[in-house]
Amino acid sequence: MKPVTLQNYAEGKWIAGAGAMADLRSAVNGDVVALTSSQGLDFGEMLKFAREKGGPALRALTFHQRALMLKALAEALTAKKDALYELSYNTGATKADSWIDIDGGIGTFAVYQGKGRRELPNDTILIDGSVEGLSRNGTFQGLHVYTSLQGVAVHINAFNFPVWGMLEKLAPTFLAGVPAVVKPASATSYLTEAAVRVMLEANVLPPGALQLIVGSTGDLFDHLTSQDVVSFTGSAQTASKLKTHPVIARESVRFVAEQDSLNASVLGPDATPESPEFDLFIKEVAKEMTVKAGQKCTAIRRAMVPTKLLDAAQEALAVRLSKITIGDPRDEATKMGALVSVAQREDVRAKIREIATDGTIASGNPDASVGNTKGAFMQPILLRCERPWDARAVHDVEAFGPVSTLMPYKDAADAIALANRGKGSLVMSVFSYDTAFERDVVLGAGAFHGRIAFIDRDSAKESTGHGSPMPHMIHGGPGRAGGGEEMGGIRGVTHYMQRTALQGSPRVLSSITHRFMAGAPVEVSTNHPFRRKFHDLPIGYQLNTKTRDISLEDIEHFAHFTGDTFYAHMDEEAARANPLFGGRVAHGYLILAFAAGLFVDPDPGPVLANYGLDNLRFVKPVKPGDSIQVALTVKDKTLRKPDQGEVRWDVVVTNQNSEQVAGYDLLTMNAA
Ligand code: NAP
Repeated sequence: MKPVTLQNYAEGKWIAGAGAMADLRSAVNGDVVALTSSQGLDFGEMLKFAREKGGPALRALTFHQRALMLKALAEALTAKKDALYELSYNTGATKADSWIDIDGGIGTFAVYQGKGRRELPNDTILIDGSVEGLSRNGTFQGLHVYTSLQGVAVHINAFNFPVWGMLEKLAPTFLAGVPAVVKPASATSYLTEAAVRVMLEANVLPPGALQLIVGSTGDLFDHLTSQDVVSFTGSAQTASKLKTHPVIARESVRFVAEQDSLNASVLGPDATPESPEFDLFIKEVAKEMTVKAGQKCTAIRRAMVPTKLLDAAQEALAVRLSKITIGDPRDEATKMGALVSVAQREDVRAKIREIATDGTIASGNPDASVGNTKGAFMQPILLRCERPWDARAVHDVEAFGPVSTLMPYKDAADAIALANRGKGSLVMSVFSYDTAFERDVVLGAGAFHGRIAFIDRDSAKESTGHGSPMPHMIHGGPGRAGGGEEMGGIRGVTHYMQRTALQGSPRVLSSITHRFMAGAPVEVSTNHPFRRKFHDLPIGYQLNTKTRDISLEDIEHFAHFTGDTFYAHMDEEAARANPLFGGRVAHGYLILAFAAGLFVDPDPGPVLANYGLDNLRFVKPVKPGDSIQVALTVKDKTLRKPDQGEVRWDVVVTNQNSEQVAGYDLLTMNAA
């Protein structure tokens, strides 16, 4: 097959690089599959194009519109995924490996589009946290908000996940309204290039939102500014080179690093060879060694077991690994494909030799010839380290291939200390049924690991496993792992936004954020708000109800009707003895029910359903003889479907002295 010449996508055009081309070879048979170069690109102009075209166009869209863009991109990628799978075989990936990369990447877009529409406002400003009172009378308040950065996200990715690696960074970036320049690792950039083509052909991205560099980044870093973000995934060595670039320091460019990591998995002290956790642990270690031929940043590099189980664990692992069929990833019988390149395999072999200075090879032969001799195949290698306390390489050297080291620990504290010897990792997993040990792990090791997965007999069947970063959860870790954080649901979006503390009057803050805040001007209702459709309800539209007296009979009737005869409502003497009540009080739920009775308009109308309350607080007791009144104000609104929207109402219940007795947000679904 004739190799394809890859193209860069710069300033709205596909451009082949000039000069000498780098050969990209198939991991399976060594054939040249693609040629690549980025020479001749004007990197400064690419960044300018993104800032001047892509950024403003993306920022003009609301979070929901950006989320719909992700949805359309996910659909386009799904429609063309067979072609991506076909290319993926050349990277050495089996179909199951490609599923993690391609479907996993598309799934990340799918999760983010859903979260974007459910958890973000249909707006361009994102509120962070709640209002802070900064003055006695409430005329000066504080609020934190996020707005989109006005620069470019430069995404530099590792070779092992050419699709997922790109999409997991793009999803939060696009939702944040920030354009991206993607630079995949050269070795597998032909697959990334194909995925970028699919996304651009979907025609949903504004010009300048997405550009691609296949090859070196040239002088790109010289043109970065403080509004840009570099998000890097790759080795610790490259990360340290890039983050010390003088422009990164001088301009305070945000630099996110997802590096390599000596991830640990611990079989709990409670395990025995018969316990379900023992089998689950063995299965997971073998899986993590062989999926993607062990080329996963999250793979288990250090497998720790109680000393008494070292031999049993080694034996079980060796049996399992011996059953792994290695070979052509297109062959359905193949369980483990090739490493990405012959050079990568040589690097892994060298690292194994280094790690072996701390122990012995317990299973597999690193130099055995497997599969096509022109391909980058190798056997999975299990090392054994008897004295991990005295070892260095095992806790320090990442062999980025099908390699893991088994080691003993003496007790729970020792297991935690050994796990932390990796000096910061992306993920640690614990196979135990002892929750006291698991809490100790969190307290002792939490600070060293970005994620901790507890897997046991209850969760194993549905568990997403040790090695899978989920879009809902943060991915990244401290120290050696790079100190970065990605994804984690909407947290990941905010990595591409600036948080700003706003201070001002409630009128100003409400107008800026499109969210009503207590103290802001209201529009007193002329007709009942429940008679108004979604689009006819302005923020701050307020209904003030009639009053309602609360009698002892009401309280007793409610108590017997509901069965809630708690002493505070029924026993004057006991209630008086409680300093919070000082006598019989109305049920909080009675206040809620009466409040609804005061503000509801009964006839069918635009309010389709009441679907819950948020932030409910009973702030002052209501006693027999008190009188309550409700202020119901439109707080904010989110269109959920073309003909339906969620209205959040601010509900404040006061007594006859205008003191607040209860407050909450009421949520209704309204016809638009
Ligand atoms: P790498 O050699 O560090 O390369 C990573 C990326 O950096 C590639 O795109 C590479 O491009 C680029 N790069 C290298 N030198 C550069 C420079 N001077 N300026 C700009 N870009 C430069 O890592 P890799 O071999 O691709 O990936 C394997 C490593 O990544 C492993 O250590 C693994 O643990 C880590 N990894 C971490 C994560 C995570 O999420 N934490 C995920 C996957 C992999 P070229 O390919 O063109 O050189």
